[in-house]
Amino acid sequence: MKKHILVIPGDGIGQEVTQWGKAALDQIAKNYNHEFTFDEALMGHAAIKVTGNPLPDETLEKARKSDAILFGAIGHAMYDNDPSLKVRPEQGLLKIRKELGLYANLRPILLFDELLEASSIKAHILKGTDILFFRELTGDVYFGEKKRSEDRNTASDLMIYHKYEVERIAHKAYQAAQQRSKRLCSVDKANVLESSRLWRETVQEIAKQYPDVETEHMFIDNAAMQLIKNPKKFDVVLTANLFGDILTDEASQIAGSMGMLASASVGDGVGFYEPIHGSAHDIAGKNLANPLASILSAALMLEISFGLPEEAKALVNAVDQALKDGYRTGDIADQNTEASKVLGTQEMGNKVLGLIK
Ligand code: NAD
Repeated sequence: MKKHILVIPGDGIGQEVTQWGKAALDQIAKNYNHEFTFDEALMGHAAIKVTGNPLPDETLEKARKSDAILFGAIGHAMYDNDPSLKVRPEQGLLKIRKELGLYANLRPILLFDELLEASSIKAHILKGTDILFFRELTGDVYFGEKKRSEDRNTASDLMIYHKYEVERIAHKAYQAAQQRSKRLCSVDKANVLESSRLWRETVQEIAKQYPDVETEHMFIDNAAMQLIKNPKKFDVVLTANLFGDILTDEASQIAGSMGMLASASVGDGVGFYEPIHGSAHDIAGKNLANPLASILSAALMLEISFGLPEEAKALVNAVDQALKDGYRTGDIADQNTEASKVLGTQEMGNKVLGLIK
């Protein structure tokens, strides 16, 4: 199979981990006789430094011409510490999601048995958890009108949803639920928010088209609690942009670390694959970042964009084997990890690469 992949490492640890997602794809191409070609482009602070624009036109053009995109992360401490800066790295990410019509963000909570002890949640509560989040990605407060009063003392962000935006992601989530355990939980705040009432009404309508799927509606505050109390309760979770953003960071603790969770953003055209974590200034440039989420994002690309489940499984198995052999990056090491098996980003990347069948 011939595919052209755009790699956008971005900022901070994005630069360190994305090379391993790319290397994993390259290794798969060799092992399975595919022809994957790669190009690279700038986004975020890395792009602002060179062009003044967090999403240069050239990046968008390359993205449109590619078969899939492997992304790292954006962000730099200078923007986090100065909210008044007008040109910001995250504008690049929000714009590319909008421009490419990437409205559905799939976040599987893939729980490796070896990491049960790495989580802050008790192992017997976690064991058997298998959740697939569908986070809406192109609406909500992220894209609604933002206002600040003249005296700068009042601010608002418009939380806005259109019916079609809820419908299209609901269909994707229901179709996934049909392939899994046929349970779907839609999370909202319909007791307080009008946009959530539209969300719930719309999901209730769509649910009628999938009578084989059991639907539950849950308020976000309850869902945040239930996710820790009894994560096995959930299978497919469908939720809006902001709630999904927060809930999936919480869910990363089920998988042991932010460095373990991959995601796929899909919609009208090309698919976009990225770890759920950010640029992690606290560990950037120190060879400490966990590269497994980037490698697992590459696996999602193989499965979803290229329809290569066997190759995707080969990557997941290689990650699993490295963990079974006792290797850990610092974020997933626990009291049982041998000191000699705590690896840096480069060493863990290499280890997994050598295990790809
Ligand atoms: P973060 O996800 O970057 O980091 C949160 C914590 O998790 C940090 O302690 C970090 O060290 C740890 N962590 C994250 N990824 C890890 C990995 N692969 N291996 C080991 N540890 C890992 O979130 P943050 O600190 O809130 O934000 C940092 C910057 O990233 C900000 O500028 C923010 O705007 C940006 N951000 C970008 C994205 C994105 O590009 N999709 C997402 C979230 C945050």
